[in-house]
Amino acid sequence: MDADGGTEFPILCETCLGENPYVRMTREKMGRECKVCARPFTVFRWLPGRGMRYKKTEICATCARLKNVCQTCVLDLEHGLPVQVRDAALSIQETVPRQDGNRRDYMAQAAGRLETVGGAADYSGRAQPAGREMLKQMARKEPYYKRNRAHICSFFVKGQCTRGSECPYRHEMPQADPELSKQNIVDRYHGNNDPVARRMLARSAARDDRLAPPEDRSVTSLFVRDVDPSLTQADLTAHFAAFGDLKSVALVPKNSCAFVNYKTRAAAEAAAQAARGGCVVGGHALRVGWGRARPKGPQELRGPSGDAHASDRAQGSGGPRIPAPPGAADGGMYPSQDPTAQGAAAK
Ligand SMILES: [Zn+2]
Ligand SMILES: [Zn+2]
Ligand SMILES: [Zn+2]
Repeated sequence: MDADGGTEFPILCETCLGENPYVRMTREKMGRECKVCARPFTVFRWLPGRGMRYKKTEICATCARLKNVCQTCVLDLEHGLPVQVRDAALSIQETVPRQDGNRRDYMAQAAGRLETVGGAADYSGRAQPAGREMLKQMARKEPYYKRNRAHICSFFVKGQCTRGSECPYRHEMPQADPELSKQNIVDRYHGNNDPVARRMLARSAARDDRLAPPEDRSVTSLFVRDVDPSLTQADLTAHFAAFGDLKSVALVPKNSCAFVNYKTRAAAEAAAQAARGGCVVGGHALRVGWGRARPKGPQELRGPSGDAHASDRAQGSGGPRIPAPPGAADGGMYPSQDPTAQGAAAK
């Protein structure tokens, strides 16, 4: 290990490394200052695949090990999640001091400690079972190579690119997200004030809210939204019968929803619990929540709060709703990972 904590090979997530694990890297000792601790470190550069853009390490190996994150994208190595999301799930307190004075000493000590221990910080080992479960559900399961794509062609954007299919840059229009463009690597590293993380946590909280068992134990039905038109009552029955005996499954194609009524509370709770990891039937993701208490008199089937805006409220964190950036549906992304990010265009 080098004095700066650097090694023969950088600490990278699968996505940043690219599809070919034998990729050639250039290595520049003391090439730049780490964006987190400001100490000079060994910078690696490589091309993660055809049609991709060159990548480089942004933070030093010591900083990366301390938080078990990738030296380039600063996402958690084990789950591909923002530090803020991981630490919220695991209830980890900030331990790396932000202030420059303390940080120098801290980093020097930390580097020595890591050298003796020799490994990355063990994060998920410390987690409570619920936190570990949450991470498992939110984790990105596959590498996401799209993140490494070439930058957008700035000439194309102005309608002036003459290189056509020979152009090494992408010919598409950029889509910006104003809130996301304000994020920075230091905040993401420390897990503070990270808009992508906030959005992921809000989504997870909304799902947990919908799936918390209602106090009224007479409720034994689930309300299912986003039912794709291609799904049949038989599809839903086949899926939900796995958790216990069904009383009925009522599909309402007009509203893309369904009511799944169980004979017992235990079965409904089992189905709701299973839906915490997301519910996918026939390749379509469904939103599952608890139904309401049955009204007295003729049976009336309604959504959890009986109005069309319930899901909107449940999703939001109170602020204005922000349109998701491209790629947000599968976990969110940062401008620094987004080839269309400002300041990153070709030339
Ligand atoms: Zn550093
Ligand atoms: Zn990475
Ligand atoms: Zn072009």
